[in-house]
Amino acid sequence: MPIYQTTSYQFQDTQHAENLFALRELGNIYTRIMNPTCDVLEKRLTELEGGAAALACASGQAASTFCVLNLCQAGDNFVSSTDLYGGTWNLFANTLSALGVECRFVDPADPEAFARASDERTRLWYAETLPNPKLQVFPIREVAELGRQLGVPLIVDNTAAPVICRPLEHGASIVMYSTTKYIGGHGTSIGGLVVDGGTFDWQAHAARFPTLNQPDPSYHGAVWVEAAKPLGPIAFILRMRVTLLRDVGAAMSPFNAFLLLQGLETLPLRMRAHCDNALQVANFLASHPKVVKVIYPGHMVDEMRRRADAYLSGTYGALLGFELRDGREAGRRFIDALKLVYHVANIGDARTLAIHPATTTHSQLSSEDRLATGVSEGYVRLSIGIEHVDDILNDLTQALEQA
Ligand code: PLP
Repeated sequence: MPIYQTTSYQFQDTQHAENLFALRELGNIYTRIMNPTCDVLEKRLTELEGGAAALACASGQAASTFCVLNLCQAGDNFVSSTDLYGGTWNLFANTLSALGVECRFVDPADPEAFARASDERTRLWYAETLPNPKLQVFPIREVAELGRQLGVPLIVDNTAAPVICRPLEHGASIVMYSTTKYIGGHGTSIGGLVVDGGTFDWQAHAARFPTLNQPDPSYHGAVWVEAAKPLGPIAFILRMRVTLLRDVGAAMSPFNAFLLLQGLETLPLRMRAHCDNALQVANFLASHPKVVKVIYPGHMVDEMRRRADAYLSGTYGALLGFELRDGREAGRRFIDALKLVYHVANIGDARTLAIHPATTTHSQLSSEDRLATGVSEGYVRLSIGIEHVDDILNDLTQALEQA
């Protein structure tokens, strides 16, 4: 795939230019809004998810911001699972609320909580498939079903479970990714992506979705559900591209799209290797005397195990956490002793990654708040890579001796 490292595109003639701007024809105008390299990434992820269209963004954070702002305006609200990546939590609890968009957080243990928290100004529900650090799989089908009854779409952040979970198949309306993680896979490129499932009927619930059903003054009065009709069931992603991406400018660079496309080519193979290795690491840690607890979907029981079995295609993902018997200082010693495993604040890389959240990602929280998110003093997060499993186990063994 060539890298179209260009800002803009020569029009054939004035009629062609006019058609593109009027959306009578879809085509390239300016790389802030579309780019042929990004377009291929968007099309491939659309296929992978079984969706209708996709939009690449500068980062996962840009993608989640766009998901909310595409449907919510000041005075509106949305309901989100409490089990979220910390950056998303901050975005929802602070930045969006300062703009007058209220996020109502609910415990995903109870799918009905989403319906109870909703009213006529609720525009969407939001959740992560496999949120860390608790790693309790989200009940996508149960919540999506309740949402469809009320006319509220479920948007799922599937960053931690590409290939092994396809949220649209379980009833989600929109899927988003931080492509920074498994999709890229090599720790080189920040990116985000939103896939429109194309199955939510925005027009049937016109009062709930004014951004898609009322004339848009920023685009000569376009009504997005109507404007999208000749192009397919893509009103959601069309509006996101031609208004939010146009105005905010958080576009993916074509070079990053190229690298992410390379990652995509090995994604199924890598996911298999990640998940196989993680299972072996989880079993190893569970029998280690310095480990008091392993947090891993495959070791969960009852409802949480049922969800893992229902949504992760017979795998349990490749993220896991464990608690060291000797707490905070043991967590530090363990991390400092690692030789093969990288110490970074990331997940989803081909290499195994580790972090001690209490002293890093979760260090700004009070100890009570930290515990509520599932992070104890001795908690270590691992994102298991695709190295030979013996190499991973050897490094963990020697680091545990120091912990
Ligand atoms: N969603 C999840 C589940 C994440 O783990 C992250 C990043 O860690 C993001 C979203 C944000 O993505 P990005 O860092 O690409 O902005």
